[in-house]
Amino acid sequence: MTMPVIVIGAGVGGLTTAALLSQNGHTVRILEKSSKLGGRTASMKFQNHILDNGFHIMPFYKKSAIFEILKKLNIESKLKLAKVDDIAFYSTDGFHVYPKGMLDLLRLSLLPFKSRIKLLRILLPLAFTSISKTELWDNTPLTKITSNLDSETNAFFEAVCMLAFADTADHISLGEFTRTIIRANPFKGGTSEFAYPDNGGYDSICHVLSDYILENKGEIHTRQLVKKVIIENSKVSGVIVQNLSGDDELIPTNCVVISYPAYTALNQLFENNVISTEFVKKINKLNKTTSVVEVHFALKSKIDSRQVVFPVGKSYTTKGIFFISNITPSVSPPGEHLIIAGTPVLPEDTDNPQKIKNIVAKMKQEISSIYPEFEPSLLWERPMAWKLVESVVKEPGKVWKSKMPHKIPGIEGLFFVGDSTISYGIGTDSAAHSSILCTPKIESYLKL
Ligand SMILES: Cc1cc2nc3c(=O)[nH]c(=O)nc-3n(C[C@H](O)[C@H](O)[C@H](O)COP(=O)(O)OP(=O)(O)OC[C@H]3O[C@@H](n4cnc5c(N)ncnc54)[C@H](O)[C@@H]3O)c2cc1C
Repeated sequence: MTMPVIVIGAGVGGLTTAALLSQNGHTVRILEKSSKLGGRTASMKFQNHILDNGFHIMPFYKKSAIFEILKKLNIESKLKLAKVDDIAFYSTDGFHVYPKGMLDLLRLSLLPFKSRIKLLRILLPLAFTSISKTELWDNTPLTKITSNLDSETNAFFEAVCMLAFADTADHISLGEFTRTIIRANPFKGGTSEFAYPDNGGYDSICHVLSDYILENKGEIHTRQLVKKVIIENSKVSGVIVQNLSGDDELIPTNCVVISYPAYTALNQLFENNVISTEFVKKINKLNKTTSVVEVHFALKSKIDSRQVVFPVGKSYTTKGIFFISNITPSVSPPGEHLIIAGTPVLPEDTDNPQKIKNIVAKMKQEISSIYPEFEPSLLWERPMAWKLVESVVKEPGKVWKSKMPHKIPGIEGLFFVGDSTISYGIGTDSAAHSSILCTPKIESYLKL
């Protein structure tokens, strides 16, 4: 009997890899420690609303790595997507339409006309450069090209950074930023559109993938904590799992795919000296996260018909207001509306209930100043704080090929996927891209 490929984790990275392997007839068994699928994209029901684990949208819509995989599996029709295209900036002088393409920049009323021309002059050559050229800028911060700009143009860049919840433009790699601009360029086959599952819940993506895996004879087991990956003579020979009754169980396998951040996995899953301390040290450096506070608000009336609003300016704590029920009404019961507001914070703030309370109060004040109907319409609020928003953005020097490799030289049968591993793109797109790059490596190992 062939041993199954063990995939640790049922987030976007683990599920896309498992689905691609099942398509080609490989037996996969996913072991997920939590009770839900989706990893960081898991959603939940609360007061009859579908709440995501923080605001999630799919960058690059049908040009995303996720959609490319669904097409390859022939299941793209199973995921109905709603377009997120009514986006605006808000500054003290009112709303300004978010530019969907380069030419829209000329109409961007947020900026004085002179600054729009300046911006176009910077972005246009980037949009037409090659992906390979962007690699030369992977260690350079975005501020290299923005530091000498006037404050209005810089406000635009700061607002764009907030889209990825980078706290400052310094924490965005110019290489990764340029790849995003290229992928948004329709003349290079790209798109600047965003999407969200029309049925509500970003975890719908993972459910479509899990259905496919199960239909193709794969297995998905939740509440299964993998405690150890066993390596003998530099080869994978099994995993130790804590099963539902709390007992440790050995599952023999010659192939393991780890899909959660490698800097954590390398420190948890291996006996000492299996992986060189030098290598672990290098990968630990990738442990760079953004922290955020995000608050779900349910309302009894619609206060805007836009889908996303980015307040611009240093005085706003709230960096994004996402009108989720305007993207798709499926997230809320009839007559109610769901929005989520978010802001980046210091990691230590996420452990401080008083700080979170103050942030929520500030957000409510700011949203009320934009929408006076907000407070009277408020039904309930539900704040959440994350210390770990791994890899929504990565810092210069920690993107693309500088991330965790898919294989560790000298160890056979061990693979790594997910957003912390070699891939480009942001968040879920990068998790799926890593699967596109890693799956052929797993398959050629399995053939051997
Ligand atoms: C608040 C927030 C907002 C975000 N917004 C966006 C956005 O708008 N757009 C976007 O594209 N991305 C966004 N992201 C990022 C996105 O969620 C991640 O990039 C993506 O989900 C990572 O997928 P993954 O499969 O690599 O890892 P994960 O989703 O973390 O999956 C890893 C899985 O492994 C499981 N696991 C871990 N250890 C073990 C173990 N020992 N045994 C068994 N199972 C284990 C975990 O439970 C988890 O399910 C956001 C993230 C957060 C937190």
